[in-house]
Amino acid sequence: MKKLNFYLFVLSCIFLCSCQQDEMLTTNLQGRNDISVGNIVTLKSGIKVRKNGDKYIFGRDMILSPKQLKALDETGSIAGNITGELERNVSLNPVTNLPKNYDDLVQTRNMGIYPTPYNLWAMVRFVYDSNLTSTQRGYIKQALLELQSKTNLRFYNATGQPTRDPVYGIDYPYINFKSIGKSDVSYSYVGRIGGKQDVSLANFAFDNASLGNYGVIIHEICHAVGMLHEQSRPDRDNYVTINWNNLTDSGKEQFEKQGSNYFYRGDYDYASVMGYGSFTTSISVVNDIFKPMYTKKDGSYLYQGNTVSDLDRMWINYLYLPYVARSDVYSELDTVVYDGNNRQLTEQERLQLQAQLNNGNPNPPAGGRIPNEF
Ligand SMILES: [Zn+2]
Repeated sequence: MKKLNFYLFVLSCIFLCSCQQDEMLTTNLQGRNDISVGNIVTLKSGIKVRKNGDKYIFGRDMILSPKQLKALDETGSIAGNITGELERNVSLNPVTNLPKNYDDLVQTRNMGIYPTPYNLWAMVRFVYDSNLTSTQRGYIKQALLELQSKTNLRFYNATGQPTRDPVYGIDYPYINFKSIGKSDVSYSYVGRIGGKQDVSLANFAFDNASLGNYGVIIHEICHAVGMLHEQSRPDRDNYVTINWNNLTDSGKEQFEKQGSNYFYRGDYDYASVMGYGSFTTSISVVNDIFKPMYTKKDGSYLYQGNTVSDLDRMWINYLYLPYVARSDVYSELDTVVYDGNNRQLTEQERLQLQAQLNNGNPNPPAGGRIPNEF
């Protein structure tokens, strides 16, 4: 398995960090929602992020939660200095992503933090924002189905449903897919943040999808399930050469490395949907759009994948399980379950795992499934 960026939740509730150095960039030339808008800010750890309004953005398209920003500021890693075993999170209710255990909920409220140690999802709860056209919704649906067919990720469409638990008064974590119109960047948060988190898709993401390439939408969804950029691997300099001379300050910010708490297995994955291509048309990122931002060590070019690669799948399949939406507390697994090496479990293995998740009971109660159409 390659990079297993595992983001453990930090314990602090302290919000925004103190930032040391602000540097204004020139106003963007195109007068649109360009990524040169905002300031490049150097954090205490030396990592550069971009501040746009009240948002801090890492590596071009990842919006940092306050906890992640604080961890990045202090430790150089959005996971902070916490270490722990990698394991699947099986403590959440699949549909709501709230803890199954009432005691955990009580503790959560007392402590004021989200209780699960990891920022993974059970099922990925999402809604379609009302600003999406039906065509755009269709493209997002295709991207979701693509991910479901190749990985253990499962998505739960909660459009029009409550966003807050009526009993406990806690907001459900969920993705809000929305359109942001003309922009040269689409955005996402990294991992499950808690409450509503936007996946903001620019026109070009849908334009690509209209040509059959769902790569941008899949890329942003993969951020939301916890993945980082391939080119931010700490060992990336063994595999790629950054063309620093061609990068603007804003461009350099896209090639910050993750310094610590960064799990991965395997070599650099040139086919990852999470890796940038060598070229960009964004004049705020490079001085010359006809020269690459970076290349492979042999000088050849990289191209961003349009779907999850085998190694992307291994990252996801190692950490996620394919749940079925149910109204009861039984954790039912879908018919196809992959292990961390992308091998499909036998039916016997699947039932064993399902029993393990349900106090030894391999048989879901009848009638508990709830509709889940995209
Ligand atoms: Zn990205």
